[in-house]
Amino acid sequence: MEKKCIECGTKLIGRRDKKFCGDGCRASYNNRMNRDANKFVNRINRILRKNRRILEELNPDGKATVHRDRLLEEGFKFSYYTNEYRTKAGKVYKFCYEQGYLDIGNKKYALVVRKEYVE
Ligand SMILES: [Zn+2]
Repeated sequence: MEKKCIECGTKLIGRRDKKFCGDGCRASYNNRMNRDANKFVNRINRILRKNRRILEELNPDGKATVHRDRLLEEGFKFSYYTNEYRTKAGKVYKFCYEQGYLDIGNKKYALVVRKEYVE
């Protein structure tokens, strides 16, 4: 089977495991892949930072209760958080960095701030 450079499509001659016709194509291929990966990571980081900022603004004193609609109004995205913390009683806090929230029912959330990093 004829092999082609995966960047430019030039026919490849030589080693069978060759993927590129030269260093130029290898570099531009790898750069493009990294750029796409960074774009994806940046988009998620933006969402996480926005979530964190929303929680921080709604919780200036370190403890607050907030309605789900309020969070949604601000643009909070529930699918994005950095980690979970399960208490011995089985409650699951979700965190966006140090800002956390706990579903307390009736579409309400208890907001908390964590001072220390926990594994
Ligand atoms: Zn090429």
